[in-house]
Amino acid sequence: MTIAFASYFDYTRYEPVLPPLAAGAETGRHAVAIVGGGPIGLALALGLARQGVRSVVIEADESVCTGSRAGCVTRRTLEIFEQLGMADPVMRQGLPWAEGWSYHRTREVFHLQMPRDELARYPALVNIQQCYVEQYLVERIAQVPELVEIRWQSRVTGLRSGGDGAELDIETPLGGYTLRSDWVVACDGAKSEVRKALGLRFAGTNYEARYVIADIRMKSALPPGRRAWFNPPSNPGATLLLHKHRNDLWRFDYQLRDDEDAEQAVRPENVLARIRSHLELIGETAPWSPVWISMYKASSLTLERYRHERVLLAGDAAHLVPIFGVRGMNSGIDDSHNLAWKLAFVIRGWAAESLLDSYSEERLFATRENMRHASRSAEFMDPPSVAFKVMREAVLALADDHLWVRSLINPRQSTSIGLPDSPLNAPSDAFAAGPAPGDTFPDAPVTVVGEGRQGAASLTGLLGGHFTVLVFPPAGGLDAANVAQLSQLRQATPPCAVWTVWATAPAGARLPAIVDTDGQVRARLDATDGCAYVARPDGHVLGRWKSIDVEAIRRAIAACCGLHAGLQQEAAA
Ligand SMILES: Cc1cc2nc3c(=O)[nH]c(=O)nc-3n(C[C@H](O)[C@H](O)[C@H](O)COP(=O)(O)OP(=O)(O)OC[C@H]3O[C@@H](n4cnc5c(N)ncnc54)[C@H](O)[C@@H]3O)c2cc1C
Repeated sequence: MTIAFASYFDYTRYEPVLPPLAAGAETGRHAVAIVGGGPIGLALALGLARQGVRSVVIEADESVCTGSRAGCVTRRTLEIFEQLGMADPVMRQGLPWAEGWSYHRTREVFHLQMPRDELARYPALVNIQQCYVEQYLVERIAQVPELVEIRWQSRVTGLRSGGDGAELDIETPLGGYTLRSDWVVACDGAKSEVRKALGLRFAGTNYEARYVIADIRMKSALPPGRRAWFNPPSNPGATLLLHKHRNDLWRFDYQLRDDEDAEQAVRPENVLARIRSHLELIGETAPWSPVWISMYKASSLTLERYRHERVLLAGDAAHLVPIFGVRGMNSGIDDSHNLAWKLAFVIRGWAAESLLDSYSEERLFATRENMRHASRSAEFMDPPSVAFKVMREAVLALADDHLWVRSLINPRQSTSIGLPDSPLNAPSDAFAAGPAPGDTFPDAPVTVVGEGRQGAASLTGLLGGHFTVLVFPPAGGLDAANVAQLSQLRQATPPCAVWTVWATAPAGARLPAIVDTDGQVRARLDATDGCAYVARPDGHVLGRWKSIDVEAIRRAIAACCGLHAGLQQEAAA
């Protein structure tokens, strides 16, 4: 159920197209068909384009998503958007925040101050509505028309898949046709037609609690942040969240009590009365107007596998995580980033098909981690039993006087999820600190002094698209054999980026160099002279070594791609 009071966004309407047809089928065959042009399908198309792989996006609607949906992106998502060349507009429209306040009735019981990472290029969290994110993705895609085609107003109604690809039935206002593709990625959301056509079912939990989302416009001087009320007089017996966005938009997200009639509760007059009462409660007197009302229920559901031969599933088509802690859209963007390079490498012949099984394994692990964290928040918001409810009330009542209790109220926002048990992790040396195999890299500012990219950069911004070898030269510099081997690695299949990390600009560097003036990269990676790290194309650590053993690095990359090291060497020769 949704009610729009005013135009939520300046929507561009896109026309449908029919490709050239013969006997009801599209002439020609696609490498990759992406079903669904929501944030995940669009991000995947851009990720593939970055690898030089062409895709077609089949999208049922005529524009980006309607109304208020996901409202916050994490630092990890911003780093992925940087890789896709679209972080700047998101940062311009987004509203960063790092604070939160939790109240029991009207009493503040917890103040969340997210730890600041002064070295990171992006803030931990940025509020931005999903329709903006989707529009920026569409605009970025328009810059690479030779690599991505979006077919709007085109609905997939059937799928037949086998070991060498799939056929999709597509309906458009101009007529229907069949499309053939070597690979299909289902990004068609919670009600995925592809998932149904494959006969797959979600397993997990549907939470009973119902939540109303209501966006209003109001000029208020309140700073941005997450405001959460438990049992406030304006919504007795339930919870209420409030978030600020740019353009004077405020998002209310409140729970309905079990005894409330949902139909009555979402009638505009009842929603507006509750908002009015809450604004009075917090002393807000500025004029306001409603923009949007909708309702949702939280779910914790996933498929058991995200790969079914030539069909892969991502985002809400593969899993539904409770959105608490901003895990909905962000987890799907991470799916797309994990999948894009793997699918591209397989298509380009740089990796064995088995690499795609690791997509399923790794992202299923991430889904379960997300569910574990989000379920805790969901249960704190809506206690599943009387015992839970008693415990929550006790926590809230004690929080005023007992510091240790306050951490139990901490809403724990989504952060990057490491993959400690990934089958791709390379056997590595022991380090005392820094990111272990499977973790994502921390950020730090660096100066690039090679590769025609002179100037300031961020570490995570340099780690993408390729495998990237970070080398910390020994005190006497790299020996000639190392330089030759590392140069060869740059020409190998798949090609690798190599960065040597120096404390001061090296004279006559024979390999691309970055300068780590304040030693921040070293400190964050616990790097010593003569050690090496390898980053996967999605920014996870593949392995790390206390010595610069280029053969070990070559073997690790080959093993990750399911190739024999010999084959990789041949390609390099
Ligand atoms: C009311 C609401 C509030 C939410 N709030 C939050 C939040 O606060 N934070 C958060 O992180 N997440 C939130 N989410 C979740 C978030 O919106 C999703 O996780 C995110 O949109 C998933 O992206 P997706 O691309 O996988 O799916 P979707 O965004 O659903 O995109 C799927 C796309 O596929 C298209 N499609 C569907 N069927 C077909 C078909 N048969 N053929 C062709 N195209 C098709 C659809 O038109 C759509 O464009 C919310 C969701 C809802 C519904």
